[in-house]
Amino acid sequence: MTPSSSESAPIAAPQIFAIANQKGGVGKTTTAINLATALAAVGERVLLIDLDPQGNASTSLGVGRNERSPGSYEYLLGLRPMGECVRQTRIPGLEVMPASVQLAGAEIELIDMERRENRLADALAAPESDARQRWNIVLIDCPPSLGLVTLNALVAVDAVLVPLQAEFLALEGIGALGNTIERVKKRLNPRLHIFGVVLTMVDRRMTLSQQVVADVRAHYGEQVFGTTIPRNVRIAEAPSHGMPVLIYDNACAGSQAYILLASEFIRRRRLAAEQAAVQ
Ligand code: ADP
Ligand code: MG
Repeated sequence: MTPSSSESAPIAAPQIFAIANQKGGVGKTTTAINLATALAAVGERVLLIDLDPQGNASTSLGVGRNERSPGSYEYLLGLRPMGECVRQTRIPGLEVMPASVQLAGAEIELIDMERRENRLADALAAPESDARQRWNIVLIDCPPSLGLVTLNALVAVDAVLVPLQAEFLALEGIGALGNTIERVKKRLNPRLHIFGVVLTMVDRRMTLSQQVVADVRAHYGEQVFGTTIPRNVRIAEAPSHGMPVLIYDNACAGSQAYILLASEFIRRRRLAAEQAAVQ
């Protein structure tokens, strides 16, 4: 590999991430908003793109239903520029691109479009979006499916974070996600890889939960984050107050776990950049 020129940015760590698992209710949105909040709290400039028409990430960040357009739907379809589609949240350093219910229609509308799998990648790469300069970390909260909207996310990102719920059948269906990632990597996005697997809703008192944690570690090895997210009632309460649990109750076990996850996330990014530099 040729050495990078002195004008170029430092060797890039992965910067744009999809949070994906086609199962619903595994902690994608919770991980997206709390990781984003924890990263912003330590000074990263973060954008969270809500790509699920249910808009749970938008709700959890306090964006009301009538304030969600223009948002990710318009941006994905190239109808509006980045500047009109993002909002500042109450958390300094964290901006959000909200999802409106219209996004549900995108799955169908995209089918007949040119470059239907590349729309989000094209939009993010457009100079007017300036995404990689404006934010050091972009997190994309994906819908619970492997349809065209999720595919757009996988084509646009550098890496994937996979939340897995520490329950019976946690690994069921995960092969399909792995296959999709491999296909996208081969055909559309050669840099795509799994950045890490996050175990969520871990119940330390339950043997089953502990068994699942062990199975997932056996299956994914080093890819699994050392930090696990405990099942914690404060995490479940926070969204109805329109805030991440880190703001709602920053001392609870759930918040503390997301703070640890963020520091592990930062360490992994630094390591990835160092490895890229010596190659
Ligand atoms: P997904 O985005 O994968 O569908 P969510 O993040 O919305 O999953 O989580 C599903 C439900 O579980 C939500 O009601 C959420 O508040 C709750 N939840 C998520 N993580 C935890 C946790 N660690 N402890 C308790 N409840 C949780
Ligand atoms: Mg969700």
